[in-house]
Amino acid sequence: MYDVIIVGAGPAVLTAGIYAGRAGMSALILERVFPGGQIARAHIVENYPGFPDGVEGVELGIRFKEHAERHGAVIESAEVTGYSLDGEIKKVFTSDKTYEAKTVILAMGAAYKTLGLYSEKRFLGTGVSYCATCDGPFFRGKDVVVVGGGDTAIEDALYLANFVNRVYVVHRRDELRAQMALQKAARQNERIEFVWNSEVDTITGDTMVTGVRVRNNKTQEMRLIPCSGVFIAIGTVPHTEEVKSQVKTDAFGYIVTDSGMRTNLPGVFAAGDIVAKPLRQVVTAAADGAIAIYSAQEYLRTLEKE
Ligand code: NAP
Repeated sequence: MYDVIIVGAGPAVLTAGIYAGRAGMSALILERVFPGGQIARAHIVENYPGFPDGVEGVELGIRFKEHAERHGAVIESAEVTGYSLDGEIKKVFTSDKTYEAKTVILAMGAAYKTLGLYSEKRFLGTGVSYCATCDGPFFRGKDVVVVGGGDTAIEDALYLANFVNRVYVVHRRDELRAQMALQKAARQNERIEFVWNSEVDTITGDTMVTGVRVRNNKTQEMRLIPCSGVFIAIGTVPHTEEVKSQVKTDAFGYIVTDSGMRTNLPGVFAAGDIVAKPLRQVVTAAADGAIAIYSAQEYLRTLEKE
């Protein structure tokens, strides 16, 4: 019986591991993938405090893992297949084992939605990105395309317009889904141009991206937009499939927590990109992990009193 089982592999998980160890809690981390979660895919992380020259995503993930292990976290590679979270003893199932703990932190993250194009995969890291905040500064003074019409796409376009030459927003309809204030700001920004009723046909280039070919879905006309970067902002999908019948999620499937990262179930917490929140970054995930352990400790103290 562990004090806490933390599910996932990213910064929220490994930070929770560090804090659990320091708090004297026995902690088991169940991870499916390479440590770091999504940051393992980031070429360089330039906005994590303490690394003014940037740090490779893979390296940051390994450092987080070593730090958690230094504080006694046990890390097992396992694919979680189910949960029983409503009782006082929480159970986490894998295909061949059942793990038990007094508390659970759900931090399985979220995945960026993709366009499903071969060229999108091919140029990932050499012009294609799913994170303007992370990769935008590499495109200073260049032309970029943002794909999508929601809050994320328009926020990304506005952010990028601060330092790139030109932002083309490619959207499949002629109406944005983004909130009005963002829409207004984007329409007034001279560096932002909208490409309506258009879908990405392919991303062109040799070793680096040189353009995006889009098809107008009304006229079927093709247009090549020369650019160095393509930011795909068509939404994310949280990894909540196995828990959404037990914990409360929002309309998009993200886990709803209070400011202490508590879910609707006592003793069950959530942290990182899987949580319904406005900013999904390494630094916010790490903070969530620390807060979740603080709340888990508090919960364990109430159990002891009973
Ligand atoms: P979203 O609201 O789901 O918008 C996704 C956009 O991408 C939509 O415009 C959609 O087009 C388009 N899209 C989806 N699949 C596509 C595909 N296969 N090909 C081309 N286009 C596609 O996602 P989001 O913008 O990431 O926002 C997610 C949630 O976070 C929302 O609740 C949003 O309000 C919230 N959020 C809030 C803030 C903020 O408040 N500051 C910032 C970011 C995000 P259609 O419009 O045609 O469906």
